Amino acid sequence: MSETYPAGPGRYPAAAPASQALFDRARTLVPGGVNSPVRAFLAVGGTPRFMARGEGAWLVDVDGRRYVDLVCSWGPLIHGHAHPEVVAAVQAAAAGGTSFGAPTGAEVELAAEIVARTPVEQVRLVNSGTEATMSAIRLARGFTGRSRIVKFAGCYHGHVDALLASAGSGVATLALPDSPGVTDAAAGETVVLPYNDVGAVEAVFAAQGSEIAAVITEAAPGNMGVVAPRDGFNQALARIAHAHGALLIMDEVMTGFRVSAGGWAGLDPVDADLYTFGKVMGGGLPAAAFGGRAEVMGRLAPAGPVYQAGTLSGNPLATAAGLASLRLADASTYQRLDATAASVGRLAGEALAAAGVPHRLSYAGNMFSVFFTDADVYDYDTARTQDVAAFRAFFHAMLAGGVYLPPSSFESWFVSTALDDAALEQVAAVLPVAAKAAAAAGNGG
Ligand SMILES: *Cc1c(COP(=O)(O)O)cnc(C)c1O
Repeated sequence: MSETYPAGPGRYPAAAPASQALFDRARTLVPGGVNSPVRAFLAVGGTPRFMARGEGAWLVDVDGRRYVDLVCSWGPLIHGHAHPEVVAAVQAAAAGGTSFGAPTGAEVELAAEIVARTPVEQVRLVNSGTEATMSAIRLARGFTGRSRIVKFAGCYHGHVDALLASAGSGVATLALPDSPGVTDAAAGETVVLPYNDVGAVEAVFAAQGSEIAAVITEAAPGNMGVVAPRDGFNQALARIAHAHGALLIMDEVMTGFRVSAGGWAGLDPVDADLYTFGKVMGGGLPAAAFGGRAEVMGRLAPAGPVYQAGTLSGNPLATAAGLASLRLADASTYQRLDATAASVGRLAGEALAAAGVPHRLSYAGNMFSVFFTDADVYDYDTARTQDVAAFRAFFHAMLAGGVYLPPSSFESWFVSTALDDAALEQVAAVLPVAAKAAAAAGNGG
């Protein structure tokens, strides 16, 4: 392993030779060199950093540089990297066998933990958020006998065919509004509406309400950057859907168990029929879930006719990591996440204001993002008023100073309870440098 660089703003050279060598090799073996598009740095340019390990609040790359991690694996790691209790739980599970293809007690425990924390009565474990939303939609269609789905522009629900229309972040960044390979038949049953616009929802239900199986929404969107629902928006969705015999699916894959013990539903309860979870509930391993009212979940095989299955669903390692993470997450965890998110956001806001960079801080619980714009951001179109050039310069200055931000301005920043004073000091020291870089590169500069 190469030498470890000292911490401090602006300490790291732009070249990252070990990451570059791996990226060059990866691109010959893996499309684009990555296994999920946003990791490739396309929105910001430059060489993606290949990570060697994580320690609490810190990431260490293959060139030996240390970064304060404000991505946290895109949300899952509320306790930071390699928390000793999560590591011990996974090690113990692995020593007892990694997969059985038969039910285990830990699956029952994880289901009980989810049911206790959220409005769902029954839950089915799957392996990814994409699988959870795909299955929830199938179940909603099977339950209602209808085919049409309503979604919102800028909301991302995984790479499910029917939901890959106006899907925010990765898709927005890569300008793939309609991915080749998604058929007209798959996308044609999806109606895309502007976010936070109750009138648009009322109008589409008035016109075609009897054909709509479900409305799916991010409980609080984090995939076009963070855009909170307006007061009463989610409740209006429930009211309108139910008036027409349709279901409401709350996608809590990002918010679930992150913004409160019960996810967004713990902050802003709504009478939804189905919920999807992922990220935090897997504790950094692949686990996700969908759940809801027993009447709806009871239609799922083998209790009912709607088929859904998975060889590795409820995997013992993933279940152990998820249970350990959830059991560690008590009221003090969420107080700390909220306070840390507020501190990082305040520091970013102060630095950008001092440098004269137009920006908006946008929070949904402890998820937040910085929009590089003067405009009010309440939907995908307003999120796209951002000055992307300013963000690029800001991102690279933060990276050079040892702070790892999401490599796109259409993403949430995430904190963990491991983010301590030393990590916060590093963020505070780098932000003014990055804000000046943004000012110099932005439209106004
Ligand atoms: C991440 C995410 C998904 C997809 O989850 P994967 O595990 O990446 O398939 C779905 N919905 C939301 C809201 C997400 O943030």
